[in-house]
Order: sequence, then structure tokens, then C-alpha cells
Amino acid sequence: MQQNLFADDGLKSGCIFCQILAGQSPAHMLYRDDDIACFLDIMPVSEGHSLIIPTRHHDDLFTLSQGELDAVSRFSRRLAPVLREVTDADGIGVHQLNGAAAGQTVFHYHMHLIPAKQGAPRQIHGRKMADQQQLADIAAKIRARL
Ligand code: 5GP
Ligand code: ZN
Repeated sequence: MQQNLFADDGLKSGCIFCQILAGQSPAHMLYRDDDIACFLDIMPVSEGHSLIIPTRHHDDLFTLSQGELDAVSRFSRRLAPVLREVTDADGIGVHQLNGAAAGQTVFHYHMHLIPAKQGAPRQIHGRKMADQQQLADIAAKIRARL
């Protein structure tokens, strides 16, 4: 039954990001509308590391529609200055991986926005789980400015 529900909503059973979209897995949500959702990465490279995803499941860029890509891109333009302000970053890395060979680890299309400080090591993947309270605090600050 649940699988049918997921299919009707464009979600994929067993996908962690679809479970977040369905409210079946927790996330520090920053924004959501009919087309996209944005939440904090659970294993951030830096404070404010965010992911933007389409609300319909696509494994990667190869099946994403132009409209979905545009919606993700538009929101990245809205989020980037807010992240820069809230985290006092010197720059924002925008990264997007397609396929295991490219380093993708969650197979629901997503765009990373990663606040960067001058001189800090550049990476796309964090190494440890973030403190939940810290995630909640930064999420509240970002949401208030969006
Ligand atoms: P990828 O390697 O596919 O480009 O990035 C996947 C990202 O998803 C990683 O940065 C990882 O930390 C993040 N991630 C994996 N599982 C979860 C989860 O359950 N919740 C959240 N918020 N992020 C996740
Ligand atoms: Zn999914």
C-alpha cells in the first residue's frame, strides 16, 4: 500500500530523501513548495551545508525535467546569499554529483550548497554527523531570512 502511495506522489520507496519528503524521516527543513524542498545535510562539510531536491524522485540529472532543474536552480540563487550572510562565509560551493562514479551516494537528485571560508579545506562530503541542536539553530536562522 505504502509503495503505491509513494508511486502516486512521484516518490520512490526505499529512497531516504523520498522518506523525508513523505514526512517519514526527520530533516531540518529550510523550504518546501510543490516543486522543490531544501534541508540541511546531516553530515555537513561546514555549518549551513544545504541540499536542494526536486519533490518528485529522480535518481540523477539524466531524468530531471528542464522545469525541475530550473526550480532547483532558482532556489539556489535565493538561498546562496542567505547562507553567506548567516554563516559569514567567504564563498558558497555549489556541487551536484551524478552516478556512483562521480561520487554520488544518495540516488535522489540533489544540489549541495556548501558555505566556504577562505583557506579552509574544500570538500563535498562531511565526515561526521552534525549535532542536532546545532542543525536546529542554524536552520531557524536560515528559515527566518528566506
Ligand atoms: P551525494 O554524495 O549523493 O552528492 O550527497 C549525499 C548527501 O546526503 C551527503 O552529503 C550526505 O551527508 C547527505 N545525507 C545522507 N543521508 C542523509 C539523511 O538522511 N538526511 C540528510 N539531511 N542528509 C543526508
Ligand atoms: Zn527519492
